[in-house]
Amino acid sequence: MSGKIDHYGMWTWGGRVFNWKKYLDHMRLSGMDTVVLWHYHAPANAPQIKEYANHLGIRVIWGFNWSWNSPVCLNSDEDAAKWRDIVLNMLKNEYESLQPEGICFQVGGTEFDFECRLGCPICRKTYGGDGVGSLYMKFAGTIIDAVKKQYPELKLYANIHLGGVHQSFEALKFLDTSINIMWEDLPGPKKHLEVPFAYDWEAEDTAVTSQTLNMVRRMCELRGADEDVAFIVKGFPNHWGGCDPMLLEDFDLKVLANVYQEKWDAAEHYCEKRLPDALQVFRIIADSPAREKTVLLLVEHGLWEYQRYYPAMLILEAIKNPFRDPDEVIYAAKSYKNT
Ligand SMILES: [Zn+2]
Repeated sequence: MSGKIDHYGMWTWGGRVFNWKKYLDHMRLSGMDTVVLWHYHAPANAPQIKEYANHLGIRVIWGFNWSWNSPVCLNSDEDAAKWRDIVLNMLKNEYESLQPEGICFQVGGTEFDFECRLGCPICRKTYGGDGVGSLYMKFAGTIIDAVKKQYPELKLYANIHLGGVHQSFEALKFLDTSINIMWEDLPGPKKHLEVPFAYDWEAEDTAVTSQTLNMVRRMCELRGADEDVAFIVKGFPNHWGGCDPMLLEDFDLKVLANVYQEKWDAAEHYCEKRLPDALQVFRIIADSPAREKTVLLLVEHGLWEYQRYYPAMLILEAIKNPFRDPDEVIYAAKSYKNT
């Protein structure tokens, strides 16, 4: 008997969702049940978004900054305490009243090779070297402990980019198993990615290796059978837009879709070509002993609300049941073609 991936959905910068109702409608039509909306601050209409999503059977996980892309020293107790207080204030003032189904966080130093704001020797050792895994545990641990004390029932999701973590991800095996790790941006030995598919499908146009598959397996088994694990699959047309406002209801989605058409055509070609590799990766996730498994797509910049593009539907079909032949998955996805 084969395993399955329990939840699938979307991870997105909320600032790049131009019509959130259509975005959620298309998720619902596609059988998705989870959306992560990442903002610097909770959007003013967060209660309406949550209500509409929940009505469609979609849970909303709110993401916000826990020092990502900010000048920090991961070895500084002072910096950890400062961010602990910022996070507790944000939760109290912006998120508590939403009764969030989950909070997703990103800590500084994981996305890129990390430069400590103080240039301290302990942080410097991680830069371009082993990665920030153990410093992450120390820094994030201070914030997590305080949040869990204040909100024991709150479900937390740790967004981990491997750009600054590298092989030191093993240090995260000591992270509380109640916290779901969402893995993303996973670089391999050749600058591009050991674990597909982080940035774009074309750039990773090499066959998936046994090393890649083993790394996915180790990530799924990192904390044993009590762990929830999630992966974010990127490589679909998108544009960083975290600082922008959301809810541009009148935005001309058709114009935007035309701008991106060439990228979608390329994504279609490469997603079909890499489908056997994607299926291998999803089979490992589905069959892993982790308690709950989630895979999210990143499709944004007005594109998912315009239509359910075929490449995204193709990969979604692969996630829904990876134990099929590629031809069967392609056949299933084509029935939705650009609807
Ligand atoms: Zn430092």
